[in-house]
Amino acid sequence: MNPGSAAPVRRPAVFLDRDGTVAEEVGYVNHASRIRLLPRSAEAVKRLRSAGYLAVVVTNQAGVARDYFEERIVHQANQRLVELLSREGAALDAIYYCPHHPREGESPYRRDCQCRKPRPGMLHQAAQDLEIDLGGSYMVGDGMVDVGAARAAGVVPILVLTGYGRGHYEHRRSRWTVQPEHIAEDLFDAAEWILQRKRRPE
Ligand SMILES: [Mg+2]
Ligand SMILES: [Zn+2]
Repeated sequence: MNPGSAAPVRRPAVFLDRDGTVAEEVGYVNHASRIRLLPRSAEAVKRLRSAGYLAVVVTNQAGVARDYFEERIVHQANQRLVELLSREGAALDAIYYCPHHPREGESPYRRDCQCRKPRPGMLHQAAQDLEIDLGGSYMVGDGMVDVGAARAAGVVPILVLTGYGRGHYEHRRSRWTVQPEHIAEDLFDAAEWILQRKRRPE
């Protein structure tokens, strides 16, 4: 024992977008029953966590600011996500969400916050709360806001072709202002790429 001398060990994380990445993209999730896992999500989360990565969901939920649904619905939907994952033996380490919108709705949700992706606020908050090593971390998402948030936080962005991903990739690529490091079919493929890369660092 050497109390006081050990620096806290920071762990790497894989940040996961919720809608279109872990769960199906179905538009605004205004009821928990709209949460459906994508086929290989649970397996992907299990593999990442077995390899030592924290699994942290970071999701924009501006439907709250727009008054499409109340904040408690976000909690219920997230709870449903946790429940569906746990049925397949997978767990998350944390879930962060941003209920804000810079121009829509009313106080306290109408706000030019730091948490709404592509800003990196949720990743920074998680890094602080969970002692995450951002330099060894990844972000997987189906939106360019996910890629943007990843770049802003200094984590490696992976775009998945589920959800809005394929449309972004096939029809909008020439206009991208931020680039993903890798493009994967789905979260499972993204996880495989991450684990592969860890085994054979470049
Ligand atoms: Mg998404
Ligand atoms: Zn926010």
